[in-house]
Amino acid sequence: MTTTDTHCPYCSLQCGMRLQAPHDGGEAQVLARPDFPVNRGALCGKGQSATAVLGAGVRPTAPLVRDKRGGELREASWTEALDRVAAGLAATAQRHGRESVAVFGGGGLTNEKAYLLGKFARVALRTPNIDYNGRFCMSSAAAAHRFAFGLDRGLPFPLEDIAKADCVILVGGNPAETMPPALRYFRELRSNGGTLIVVDPRRTRTAEQADLHLQPVPGTDLALALGLLHLAVADGRVDQAFVAERTTGFEAARTAAMAHWPERVEGLTGVPVHQLREALRLFADAAGGIVLTARGPEQQSKGTDTVGAWINLCLALGKAGRPGSGYGCLTGQGNGQGGREHGQKADQLPGYRSIEDPAARAHIAHVWEVEADDLPGAGRSAYELLDTLGTEGGARALLLMGSNPVVSAPNAGHITERLRALDFLAVSDLVLSETAHLADVVLPATQWAEETGTLTNLEGRVILRRRALTPPQGVRTDLHVLRELAARLGVDKGFPEEAEEVFEELRRASAGGPADYAGISYRRIRAEEGVFWPCPGEEHPGTPRLFLERFATPDGRARFAPVTHRPAAEEPDHEYPLYLTTGRVLSQYQSGAQTRRVPELNRAAPGPFVELHPQLAARLGVADGEALAVTSRRGRAVAPARVTDTIRPDTVFMPFHWAGAGRANTLTNPALDPVSRMPEFKVCAVRVERVR
Ligand code: SF4
Repeated sequence: MTTTDTHCPYCSLQCGMRLQAPHDGGEAQVLARPDFPVNRGALCGKGQSATAVLGAGVRPTAPLVRDKRGGELREASWTEALDRVAAGLAATAQRHGRESVAVFGGGGLTNEKAYLLGKFARVALRTPNIDYNGRFCMSSAAAAHRFAFGLDRGLPFPLEDIAKADCVILVGGNPAETMPPALRYFRELRSNGGTLIVVDPRRTRTAEQADLHLQPVPGTDLALALGLLHLAVADGRVDQAFVAERTTGFEAARTAAMAHWPERVEGLTGVPVHQLREALRLFADAAGGIVLTARGPEQQSKGTDTVGAWINLCLALGKAGRPGSGYGCLTGQGNGQGGREHGQKADQLPGYRSIEDPAARAHIAHVWEVEADDLPGAGRSAYELLDTLGTEGGARALLLMGSNPVVSAPNAGHITERLRALDFLAVSDLVLSETAHLADVVLPATQWAEETGTLTNLEGRVILRRRALTPPQGVRTDLHVLRELAARLGVDKGFPEEAEEVFEELRRASAGGPADYAGISYRRIRAEEGVFWPCPGEEHPGTPRLFLERFATPDGRARFAPVTHRPAAEEPDHEYPLYLTTGRVLSQYQSGAQTRRVPELNRAAPGPFVELHPQLAARLGVADGEALAVTSRRGRAVAPARVTDTIRPDTVFMPFHWAGAGRANTLTNPALDPVSRMPEFKVCAVRVERVR
């Protein structure tokens, strides 16, 4: 038996696990690691069953190519497949210009892959058009974080601080289903005498454990936060000394909040005034107070402002930049944090640098040994990139790595058509996802237990996944693919295949940037169970807690955001009278590309459903389990009814993990946040009917 300490392939908690592989090639097993400080011996069902996706039966183990559009995929050699991808990309660029070629990455890719993918787009393809599915996941929180504090790290403190706070407000997150081992921190908070307030249109498994559950109308979290700030001002609860010493811009935020008096906010949100007052009292009275947001407030067309409003509340009450207090975002994807730091975002270069900053361009150009003037500028954001595929001025050839937009993109029916309209599509993935099924070439990639690489978890802790198993013959690492493609495109250096070699270059590229990894090495990560960035030197201990002395803005002060309430891009009306909100369930992960291939997870969560309140069910004459059609301006999805009083009567909920007739993202609205360019997954207008 070979035993290797590594990390889970799924969510941003990156639980520590021990992988045991029999020498006779028998099935590997995972055990939770009690000594890893994040999960302390716990794994959820997804992590426990993670080895199931390693089996050769559930994944391609040879490249696949299609000889003509509409033809079948057939097995091919790696040489043929890579030749075809390089030729497809090069021919399109030659015919239509460099911007007609695009790259789409994923928040599950390791730091090394994200880094090399960004470099591949900008150096080998010389296209500005690279973005990734993390744009759909947390970019509004990142934008608000950067505006307020000058730096975005999902949690600017370790998870253990949640347990040490006196009051935590969790807005639009459901860790009981998305990352169950994290729930222990909330339980410890309460057993230490602290209070948990959950804001969610559904009484989720997490909300069931709260001391106070606020159940607002979808898309009104911004008004709710403004109402709480109004009460803080009106009740004289503002921490004037903190505001004066450590912040700027309070007056504009105060003025906006004063237009959101409690009765108005009750009218907008449906949250009773007495609950607003109780929430404010609990949070203001707490010595240590934390606000956490997740996808609920972030995946809105006003997500950046919504998160900004919650940060405003923290700042007004002096609950930031102090031990036991602060604002944080519960990032979702495994490398949702690192994925946005190393250059696979359309507007960023490695080290979390702006692509428009001349000094950043010069630094990265030096590391990459190219001319700064040759680096492209900012490209299209994820939805805009996908929305324009195959159109005049849009990309006509796409290399997609570790993402499944046929299921996970908003307005997914339209995006599927755009993918079909491409001249050339190549997909590198672990499994034959719905998007891979559309590809001209599929490149089968190695997985978590078969390769080494770093990820940065939701706390900013850089961890190391270790290769524990020999991959099946016929699959290759994404780093190998990038090296081979770069060489075929005429760039035969600067694309190493060894992850540690890529990481060494990443360290140099990030040095001096906001996300500084210069002092982090594989050796240190192994020895220290992860290192928190920023870590500018070998002797630096890393930074578990940010902002204790100053914020990362030029003047060291946090900035209030001047935000005000506005409705969702699409509100219910006569034709579409209900809100739809979407989310996740315990036994599936993201687009389900991996977890739908695990029998025990499929048994636990076999398909989509439509959650609706008994009052709405009675009005529609619908029984539990009966087929329902949900229709929005973008399409129609059909799934069985799940009648429950845990949801608001004006709202239906669908999980988004499935393709086919029950695909929730057929319905969702791609209205974009003007700052983060994040789509409004969390609220749109629908009508619901029985399917006879
Ligand atoms: Fe994996 Fe997340 Fe479950 Fe931990 S909580 S085992 S990281 S899916």
